[in-house]
Amino acid sequence: MLTYREALQQVLDAAVVLPARRVMLDQALGLVVAEHVVAADPVPPFTNSGMDGFAVRAADVAQAREHAPVCLRVLEDVPAGRVAACEVTQGTALRIMTGAPLPGGADAVVPVEDTAAAGHPSREGSWVGVEVRKPVPRGANIRLAGEDIPAGARVVESGALLRPAEIGVLAEVGCAVVQVIPRPRVAVITTGDELVDASERPGPGRIRDANAPALCAQATAFGAVPVRFSRVPDRREDMTRVLSTATAAADVVVTTGGISMGERDCVKDALEELGAERVFWRVAQKPAGPLGFWRLGGKPVFGVPGNPVAAMIVMEEYVRPMLRRMMGLSLLFRPERHGALASEWARRQSDRRLHFLRVFVREENGELRARLSGPQGSGILSSMARSNALALIPGDATAVASGGRVLLHLTDEPEDH
Ligand code: AMP
Ligand code: MG
Repeated sequence: MLTYREALQQVLDAAVVLPARRVMLDQALGLVVAEHVVAADPVPPFTNSGMDGFAVRAADVAQAREHAPVCLRVLEDVPAGRVAACEVTQGTALRIMTGAPLPGGADAVVPVEDTAAAGHPSREGSWVGVEVRKPVPRGANIRLAGEDIPAGARVVESGALLRPAEIGVLAEVGCAVVQVIPRPRVAVITTGDELVDASERPGPGRIRDANAPALCAQATAFGAVPVRFSRVPDRREDMTRVLSTATAAADVVVTTGGISMGERDCVKDALEELGAERVFWRVAQKPAGPLGFWRLGGKPVFGVPGNPVAAMIVMEEYVRPMLRRMMGLSLLFRPERHGALASEWARRQSDRRLHFLRVFVREENGELRARLSGPQGSGILSSMARSNALALIPGDATAVASGGRVLLHLTDEPEDH
C-alpha cells in the first residue's frame, strides 16, 4: 500500500498550473501574477507637497526665527486636486495642502505649525499674509515626481504573489486589470443516503451533511472557489451523472463517502464506468485509509472517505498543496515543526499506518507542546474544531512516550515552506 508521502507525490505530479487570465484588481488578492507589470507613469505623477503649509522660496525664509518671523504675502490657496494659477515669487507664498502640486517658483514647504496667520493693510487694500517662524532647507516637505516609482520601472515581477500592498501599487500605476493564475474551481460532491441538509431535522437513521459545508469552507480558505454539487444518493447511476458534470465544470473534483468496502459504496464503480484512470486507491494512513485518486478527462478526482475528520484531513494534506501548485504558488505546505507530545500515545502492534493526530499546539518555555485536542475517532469532528495542528506519527513508531518528539503540521498558520 502507498505511504502518505508517495501518495502526496502522485497527487502533486498530477497538478498543472492553470492557464493565466485577466482579472480585475479587486479579484486578485492572493493570486500569482503571470506577467511583469511596468509603470507607464511615474509615482507620484507630479512633484507635490508632503505637508499642509506654505509653498515658499527657501531663500526668503532663511532668516526666519521664532521671535523675528518673516512675513510673506499669500497669493493663493492650493488644495489637493487643484493646480495653482500663480507662481511663488520673492516675498510671496502659496497656501498648500498635502498632495497638491508644488507651484512654480517654490522650492520648499513650510509646515503650517511653523507659521502664524498675518493680515496686512496696504494702500491697495488688505492682503493675506503669513508669518514664518523657522527657516526650511530647499526641498523640505516636497515629494518629487517619480520618487516612489519612476516611469518604466518594473513594479511586480511575473510569479509574485499579490498581497494588499502589491494590489495598491498596481492601482497606483493604473494596472486595473492584471494577468494572474486564477483560483481553481473545486467541485464538492457528498454522497450518502443518510445525509440531510444542515437546515433540516434528520429523520430516523439520518444525520446532517457536515462535509459539504466544511470542505467548501476549506476550499475557500485555501484560495480556491468551491462549487457545491447537490448531494448524491448511494446509487452508481446518480454518481456517474454528477461526476461527469463536475469534471466538466471544475478543475478538481472531491467526492466524500462511498469509497470504502461497503455494499453500496459506488464512487469507484462510477469512476471506472466513466473510464477514469486510477492513480491510487488506499493509503497507509489513519484516518482516510480508503482515499482514492483518479484522473478523469484530465481532471484530478479525489474519492475521500465520508468521515468528516478524514475528509477534512485529506483536504488539508493533499488537496491544499495540489491547489497551491495549480495556482502557481511555490510554497505548497503549512509550516512543519517538531514539538513534544504532551501525553503518551500507542497503537495496535499490527498497525503500520501513518497516524494524523488532532492536537492543540502552543509554545511553552521556548518549545512547542502538542496536546491531543480530544478523542481521536474518525467520526469525532469536535476535536478537529479544537485543534490547530496535526501531529504525524510515522508507521514505524509503535508508541510515543509523554514528552516524545513529533512532527507537526501547523494547520492554522498561513505561512508555508
Ligand atoms: P462512508 O465513507 O460513506 O462509509 O461514510 C463513513 C461515515 O461517515 C459514515 O458514518 C457516514 O454516515 C459518515 N458520513 C459520510 N458522509 C458524511 C457527510 N457528508 N457528513 C457527515 N458525515 C458523513
Ligand atoms: Mg456511505
